Amino acid sequence: MLGSGQLGRMSAMAAKNLGYKVVVYDAVPEGPACSCADLSITAPFTDREALGRFSGEVDVVTVEFENIPIAVLEFLETKVPVRPSASVVRICQDRILEKEFLRNNGFPVAPFRVVTSVSELAVGISDLSSPSILKTAALGYDGKGQVRISPGDDLNAAWAQLSSPRGVLEKMISFDSECSVICSRSPHGETRCFPVQENIHRDGILDITIAPACIAADVAANAQQIASSIAEKLGVIGLITVEFFVLPDGSLMVNELAPRPHNSGHHTIETTLTSQFAQHIRAVCGLPLGPVELRAPGVMINLLGDLWKGGAPDWEPLLRESGLFLHLYGKSESKPGRKMGHFTLLKTGENTQNRALALRESMIGKAC
Ligand code: ATP
Ligand code: MG
Repeated sequence: MLGSGQLGRMSAMAAKNLGYKVVVYDAVPEGPACSCADLSITAPFTDREALGRFSGEVDVVTVEFENIPIAVLEFLETKVPVRPSASVVRICQDRILEKEFLRNNGFPVAPFRVVTSVSELAVGISDLSSPSILKTAALGYDGKGQVRISPGDDLNAAWAQLSSPRGVLEKMISFDSECSVICSRSPHGETRCFPVQENIHRDGILDITIAPACIAADVAANAQQIASSIAEKLGVIGLITVEFFVLPDGSLMVNELAPRPHNSGHHTIETTLTSQFAQHIRAVCGLPLGPVELRAPGVMINLLGDLWKGGAPDWEPLLRESGLFLHLYGKSESKPGRKMGHFTLLKTGENTQNRALALRESMIGKAC
């Protein structure tokens, strides 16, 4: 496993359930995945000796984040199967390549322009002639590396704020809702999509996921169809998560791709017959893909570091709630916006979402 964050942690747990041994490699020490691994290697991604040692320990390599230097994946590919491959990660780690891949293959995306200077930004703004979002081509996550621009704004300031030499300027879309689909694809080319889930963001960070999404059946089928076609076109082995905007007429636009488990799929640990993490491991290890039918609908709520601002949260209300599953990632330091954990509340009655939000509120600042 390249990377040691919470996605790696939950994937490692799924791998351990299947009896595998897990080796985690990361440039930073003591990530959440390390305590669930049989061996952790901490070394820069440029350290060929350490990478060689890592590849000697494993039968297959996978990733839990996409910002891994491509040269590292290409080097590892000379030693062991790397799933997803360097060619898939190359596209998904660069917003320009990703948008161009989607557009060139006929997948629906928001109108966009590639910008590498303030003058190109000015041309893009006038072409798109609407409120827009300027996004960094590389290393953006959780809404970081994005600048919202309205007509008349100071473009020099916007370009300086991006602080990146390459970006994508995207038309601001007035969507009805956002949803995502996690599609698994095996080395034999079999694909299987999880049910569509609805995502609600706050300050650019995923806040709530509702599973399954409350959208028309034909819209959901279309989202799964698009996700499967993307998985096939990319030739991904493992998972590909496709984020969508749902427009008022029910049509879909692809927002972005992630070639790995995704925060919006955490609820699958409890809500579907196979979790996204177990499916990730099945796919990269060449096992049969698991069934993805819904076992119970649910709502997933993210727990960010902000909840710690008045001291350790009070876990009792959560732990007393029937049908609530709490997952903490074992991070020792909380920071605003940092993903510390999540919980999933199964839908057992009315107003599950409001109940889940009230439970999160009830935790704040009451140290136990
Ligand atoms: P992630 O945490 O999913 O990796 P990210 O930082 O890569 O996020 P995006 O998914 O591109 O960023 O954007 C974050 C959120 O900002 C979206 O989920 C959506 O709510 C909003 N957003 C992004 N692009 C647009 C757009 N073109 N029009 C309207 N809203 C947008
Ligand atoms: Mg996103």
